[in-house]
Amino acid sequence: MRLQKYLAQCGVGSRRKCEQYIAEGKVKVNGQVVTEQGVQVEEGDEVLFENQPVQEEEQLVYYLLNKPTGYITSVADEKDRPTVLDLVKNIPYRIFPVGRLDYNTTGLLILTNDGELTYALTHPKHHVDKTYVVKVKGDIRPSTLQKLQQGVVIDGYLTAPAKTKVIRQNGATTTFSLTIHEGRNRQVRKMCAAVGYDVLRLTRVSMGSLELGDLESGSYRPLTRQEVNYLK
Ligand code: URA
Repeated sequence: MRLQKYLAQCGVGSRRKCEQYIAEGKVKVNGQVVTEQGVQVEEGDEVLFENQPVQEEEQLVYYLLNKPTGYITSVADEKDRPTVLDLVKNIPYRIFPVGRLDYNTTGLLILTNDGELTYALTHPKHHVDKTYVVKVKGDIRPSTLQKLQQGVVIDGYLTAPAKTKVIRQNGATTTFSLTIHEGRNRQVRKMCAAVGYDVLRLTRVSMGSLELGDLESGSYRPLTRQEVNYLK
């Protein structure tokens, strides 16, 4: 890449301004001042502007997707099923999903190229609350909800305390919210199975302070700066 383009990409200034800096002798490549335009730089070259190293700035981007059923939460699938990345268009960055939602789970999923944020949101020690709306068949007794709150044994381990709240109950089905901060594989489905319920529908509606809101299924939007700051 030409030096002035590289400098501009690194946020040193506009391409024209960078040409000026080069002409003024403010730029060094591998220890040598470069004053001619158009010099090529390659990966591994050390570029200094006013004796400070410059680095390519990768812009960090953040999106919130309302995942529909029928998509896997991965960048590629060995069985060739659609992935959540098939739902996003025209994003010129190598984004990836933060954490996982099952094939049949819907709702809030963050897509980003920020590996640090991914770590912070998915590492169990960070305790980020995730709220799911769960629909099951029949009624649920308060004592059953209490079991979910106190912890149930799944895969030989006791889940951490959770919160529940009944949203709708009509005899045929019950819809309730379940808030957990762990993120084990199929955790909500397994917790419900542990108290005798199959999940009919599962939607993640919030993660930390981030809410799905009324974003349509299959749609996505960039996170606001404030939302990103909350997550970090
Ligand atoms: N828990 C589940 O069982 N499935 C999900 O997709 C997310 C949480």
